[in-house]
Amino acid sequence: MSESLPKLQMYIDGEFVDPTTGDYFESFDPYTAKPWCLVPRGTEDDVERAVQAAHRAFSDGEWPAFNASQRGELLRKLGELVAENAQMLGELEVKDNGKLLSEMSAQLKYAPSFYYYFAGLADKIEGAVIPTDKASFTYTLHEPLGVCAAIIPWNSPLLLVAWKLAPALAAGNTMVIKPSEYTSASVLEFIKLVEKAGFPKGVVNIVTGYGSEAGEPLVKHPLVQKVAFTGSSFTGAHIYAEAAKDIKRVSLELGGKSPNIVFADANLENAVKGAVAGIFAATGQTCVAGSRLLVQENIYDEFVEKLVAFASTAKMGNPMNLDTQVGPVTNLPQYKKVLDYIDIAKGEGVETVLGGGKAERPECGDGWFVEPTIFTGVRNGMRIAQEEVFGPVLGVIPFADDEEAVAIANDVMFGLAAGVWTEDIRRTFTMAKRLQAGTVWVNTYRAVSYTTPFGGYKRSGLGRELGQEAILEYLQTKSVWISTAEEMANPFVVG
Ligand code: NAP
Ligand code: MG
Repeated sequence: MSESLPKLQMYIDGEFVDPTTGDYFESFDPYTAKPWCLVPRGTEDDVERAVQAAHRAFSDGEWPAFNASQRGELLRKLGELVAENAQMLGELEVKDNGKLLSEMSAQLKYAPSFYYYFAGLADKIEGAVIPTDKASFTYTLHEPLGVCAAIIPWNSPLLLVAWKLAPALAAGNTMVIKPSEYTSASVLEFIKLVEKAGFPKGVVNIVTGYGSEAGEPLVKHPLVQKVAFTGSSFTGAHIYAEAAKDIKRVSLELGGKSPNIVFADANLENAVKGAVAGIFAATGQTCVAGSRLLVQENIYDEFVEKLVAFASTAKMGNPMNLDTQVGPVTNLPQYKKVLDYIDIAKGEGVETVLGGGKAERPECGDGWFVEPTIFTGVRNGMRIAQEEVFGPVLGVIPFADDEEAVAIANDVMFGLAAGVWTEDIRRTFTMAKRLQAGTVWVNTYRAVSYTTPFGGYKRSGLGRELGQEAILEYLQTKSVWISTAEEMANPFVVG
């Protein structure tokens, strides 16, 4: 490990701090495959300090004294600071994560809206006055939970932090964030903006480190009331089980194997773009990747030909260049995993019609690049059709009619998203109803908005992020009964 690389610091109780153990690990630039900074290796002691700080901030001092409008004002200020620093944050994410600068520029122009939306929602959390059958004035209060843990994956750190932090703070909670070991840098830069916006110390804390050493004690900490997790279904299931021991609240945004279904009546030019957006955007490293492309039999050959022709022009290379369309895979284990899945698919007897291995193009240098890959001859029972690859690997499956499309689409353990390409209005509504997925896109793909709930059916998760529903994930309901009776009723009879 090169000691000359810049050392990042964690953020606990309003201060940038070194890890208790003094240990660091390298973070890599996936375009060069070289380490570029050192990330603090946080452990249980750091988690303890962070959770205690978040607990103090929740219980005493300025934060619980703020009214909802004041919390909203701070969130609005944070959104403005994200907008002002979008370029810097975006470039950092490109360096640490390999995301395209073109995608980050668009994402960070949009990111402030997530803070503005929940800033506006903060003082619209309303209880109800409930007409009861008793002599009582009865009403409900929605109260914050306390210390919330946010555990973030590597594919879109800044965005996924926003999805959790904005509703949690709008609701009055405090938070400890554990970013992915592979992509901690942008979140540690972002926290400077949280401080600048004026959030009191301890309200937001970051502990970096490995999942087993920093994530696990955070999930288990008795003062943590809720765990908001985005990541793989495997880790999500483990966290769910750990949280169950203390009856902690949990929201889980997990993996997917989303079907993107093209009917013969679709606008095929748009559908080709939609198929590409579904699997090659962000190098396929999105939870909503449309990794199973279902194409109606009578247009199958024509469509695959058009798709391969379009996808084969994708420009790979330096993610900092604005015209690059497919960047590297974010980390070495994931790079190896994607290549392994390509081998698994070949072993299952698929036909490779595009790519099918590591990218050996000069513009890709030593980076972790995988060729955009399309397989035909895929059957839905194959591992390549059932397991999440999280890379630029697409399996194309033919179907005869609507019935078969629905059967194949739903025959998977996941249910995060689905795409449908059709010009038929009746089919639009029936498919939207029959597909088992938290999001169904018709004639579009990967559209997400701060206004619209997002989350999974089946093993793709629990709970919803974004939209008004999201804030309920960070609140609990209290019912208050105030008797209006002059006399207390018979104490031995509850009624
Ligand atoms: P992951 O391996 O499950 O890790 C996610 C986070 O959990 C990381 O911060 C990880 O730390 C941490 N972690 C690992 N083990 C832990 C433990 N025992 N206790 C507590 N925390 C632990 O997922 P990933 O590879 O980073 O991300 C890719 C996955 O995320 C894909 O499956 C993708 O579909 C999913 N995802 C879902 C959504 C959605 O909204 N549904 C969005 C984006 C991504 P380390 O980094 O140190 O391992
Ligand atoms: Mg990195």
